[in-house]
Amino acid sequence: MLYDRTPGGAGFVQEARDRWAEVESKARDMCICPAACERACYECLKDFGNQSYHESLDRNDALTFLGNRAVSTGPGGILLPIIPTD
Ligand SMILES: [Zn+2]
Repeated sequence: MLYDRTPGGAGFVQEARDRWAEVESKARDMCICPAACERACYECLKDFGNQSYHESLDRNDALTFLGNRAVSTGPGGILLPIIPTD
């Protein structure tokens, strides 16, 4: 479920729905960790604002949820995007 935390709403959910492909693409990008961490770190998913969820964050689970057909695992476990050839 997505919701806007601004009282009365600020239109972010509506805009996200209208630009859902970009939202999914950015979410996948966030799961590609430059530090190639196991689950989540401050290089990818963790930040001060989501610290109460740090134990639950897992970039691999997130990619599975998003449909991980667009990524593969490269050397060192780094997730690499697959660029369509056609
Ligand atoms: Zn990371």
